[in-house]
Amino acid sequence: MIPFELDYIRAESAAEAVEIWSRERAAGRQVRYFGGGTEFTTLARENKIHADVVVDYKRVPEARDHGSSGDGPGHMTWGAALRLNEIVDTNRCGLVSRCCAGVADRTVRNSITLGGNIAGMLPYREAVLPFLLFDGTMTTIGPAGEQTTPVADRFDKKMNVAEGDLLLRVSLDASMCDGVEHGGVTASDRGWGPLESWATGPRGGWYYTRRTREPRLDYPLVTLVLARLDGAWRLASSGAMGYPLRMAAAETVLNGVTVGDIATMSERDRLTLAAHALEAERVQFRKDMRGSREYRREMTIRSLADGVARLADAQDHGETR
Ligand SMILES: Cc1cc2nc3c(=O)[nH]c(=O)nc-3n(C[C@H](O)[C@H](O)[C@H](O)COP(=O)(O)OP(=O)(O)OC[C@H]3O[C@@H](n4cnc5c(N)ncnc54)[C@H](O)[C@@H]3O)c2cc1C
Repeated sequence: MIPFELDYIRAESAAEAVEIWSRERAAGRQVRYFGGGTEFTTLARENKIHADVVVDYKRVPEARDHGSSGDGPGHMTWGAALRLNEIVDTNRCGLVSRCCAGVADRTVRNSITLGGNIAGMLPYREAVLPFLLFDGTMTTIGPAGEQTTPVADRFDKKMNVAEGDLLLRVSLDASMCDGVEHGGVTASDRGWGPLESWATGPRGGWYYTRRTREPRLDYPLVTLVLARLDGAWRLASSGAMGYPLRMAAAETVLNGVTVGDIATMSERDRLTLAAHALEAERVQFRKDMRGSREYRREMTIRSLADGVARLADAQDHGETR
């Protein structure tokens, strides 16, 4: 039971959602947007969060976009009100689906929205990873109007939103998906081991892995996404540090080694390269009841070495260019 009174208001358009937010705020009330409500309800029951009014945006058409229209031709768009399972089941972009599928379990994903995962308070925010990796854009609307910006400009560990801003949608240049999807996806789901999947195609390939301490449904020790697109490595992860991060310094280290050399390296040398790349990031690994900093570091090194091997081997065998 939520131990305080609150008003629940359902908005039918983005403008109405912002209007309600502004009106209620001007009346001195605490207002929050309401997606799937899983995080809000859990925290409210424990009295860790408060609201006088929640504004449900799940019926807002501008936040339900699930086509390529939102940000113009050549873009693939996902509305913030989409439930994670809607994204997984339609599978329009392999890496986006894979990252959404890693969150919680199927029942909870029937409720969790993309917007809630990216803009919520829980730190992992795994659904943002493909948008960091593939240089996506995000669109918000708020009292100051609508704004579309690169995800990298608005996301630093968490989403930087001004008061009253509602995340409406996230988009990718469709070619980021097209180029690799044609190679097909192979998923190896090894029970309690690390979950891995990858896809390769003419532009390159991507690799995804998620490691948990034991059961699959736990929060991640590390979720790592890696791509080699048009001859360059891209890397992002969550869980390892606790928050999602595009790892530009690590990318520079990887890009300094030829893919042919990586393909013929011993496993030990690949682990050394991965460790060297991660060191370049100069970040502190997370420590909690699921794992020590050292354990998370080792898991991240191994994940990166596995991913680099997978994509370099694919390229060496001529599956990608
Ligand atoms: C059982 C369980 C397991 C989980 N496992 C994982 C996991 O493995 N990996 C992972 O990454 N996350 C995980 N999460 C976290 C989950 O993705 C977030 O808590 C997410 O916020 C829930 O989405 P929601 O739509 O229910 O959010 P809500 O509860 O509706 O909202 C959460 C917060 O975000 C704000 N918000 C929501 N939508 C928007 C928007 N469009 N614009 C601006 N602000 C907004 C709300 O105002 C509120 O403060 C898990 C959560 C649960 C409950």
